[in-house]
Amino acid sequence: MEPLRAVKGMNDLLPTEARAFARIEAAARRVFERHGYGEVRTPLVEEAALFSRSIGEETDVVGKEMYVFPDRHGVPLALRPEGTAGAVRAFIEHGAAAAPIVRWFYAGPMFRHERPQKGRYRQFHQIGVELLGAAAPEADAELIGAAAAFLAEIGISGTRLLVNSIGDDACRPAYVDKLRDFLHARAAELCPDCRRRAGTNPLRALDCKVAQDRVILGEAPVPGDSLCEPCRAHFATLLGHLRALGLSPIHEPHLVRGLDYYTRTTFEILAGGDLGSQNTVAAGGRYDKLVERLGGPAVPAVGFAAGIERLVLALGGAPAPAPGPDLFIAALGDAARRRALVLAQAARAASLRVEIDPRSGSLKSQMRWADRTSAAFVLVLGEDELAAGRAPLKQMGSRGGGAPGAQEDVALDAVAGEVRRRLAPGSDDRGQPGLS
Ligand code: ATP
Ligand code: MG
Repeated sequence: MEPLRAVKGMNDLLPTEARAFARIEAAARRVFERHGYGEVRTPLVEEAALFSRSIGEETDVVGKEMYVFPDRHGVPLALRPEGTAGAVRAFIEHGAAAAPIVRWFYAGPMFRHERPQKGRYRQFHQIGVELLGAAAPEADAELIGAAAAFLAEIGISGTRLLVNSIGDDACRPAYVDKLRDFLHARAAELCPDCRRRAGTNPLRALDCKVAQDRVILGEAPVPGDSLCEPCRAHFATLLGHLRALGLSPIHEPHLVRGLDYYTRTTFEILAGGDLGSQNTVAAGGRYDKLVERLGGPAVPAVGFAAGIERLVLALGGAPAPAPGPDLFIAALGDAARRRALVLAQAARAASLRVEIDPRSGSLKSQMRWADRTSAAFVLVLGEDELAAGRAPLKQMGSRGGGAPGAQEDVALDAVAGEVRRRLAPGSDDRGQPGLS
């Protein structure tokens, strides 16, 4: 029978990669909790209307990429393509707006029917942060600072921070008119999507990925030239704050985001490296009208999301595998094998990583497996050792202070303590930040 395969663009995460993800998520928790953010977990499935209302019908995400399907009663549901819409829905639904400031973060899978390629998948994972309740540029600056601190915590350096302001309801309509005129004037040179966007949602054209369009759109009017005074002041203050934080913002006048809910600030953080258009590792902006648009009170907000797969790629891909067990117990004979189970359990309770070979193989095959697992120490248990209450503890590699191959008899009830003592600080990688 042909074995079934995973859906194209949806990846399995095997232990080494899952461990890299878990470390990144743990770093996110540390950094964002330091900033006062609490974790939320919203459903992977929402009513499709939530996303068309918030992200916008005309966006690539909703128009082309969203997985939509009817439930058994015909209600259109969607696999969430991003996290902000669900977070804002939950914010409204649970009356969180009663608090003046709400700081939330989330981590989890998102789904977009895109063309799979390196750094672009159909199920991918985002860590996102939302700061609701503050309109002032200090909020944008704090949030962008949190994003930068998170990237630094996981060991991504040499990033570039691009920022822009796309204005608000007061100044954007006039700008969009100018942009529409430009798109109509240059329509013959643009891709069919952008010709359509000229009529439906001109701002989306600035996000076009077609190379020739990007050249033409480089000449398009920019929102920065049309900002109203409050938007201009907000952006100027934000740039000052970001410089004060040492973040070296680069003003990118054509930067818009692919979702319609943004107002004023938009930003992207790019990692160095050869990921091409996939090197944006984090992106976000201000969304002062979204809570209202989804039926909630008028609450200004700012947020961002980072793609975990891209963070792993930016960190150099293949992370170090988990370290081998601290202790491997090889045992021969039924009584010794039972004792090995008990000793292993006790040593794990003392926080050691311990493995046995659960097959009933020869000592030689158990030692081969111990070697394959890169165990730091091996305890060899046979009938004689059980009778004596002592067994040889052998150091396998360089972890453990002694010489590789060095061996010493230890009392069975002192094994865990002995291994812990030898692996004391410096010889163990647990608790280290980063991927290795
Ligand atoms: P892009 O321009 O690369 O398509 P986007 O504008 O669609 O990105 P956002 O919706 O802002 O991206 O999502 C934030 C981050 O999520 C991106 O910067 C990226 O790191 C990650 N991301 C987005 N789409 C994917 C995908 N299909 N596969 C992997 N990561 C993704
Ligand atoms: Mg995209």
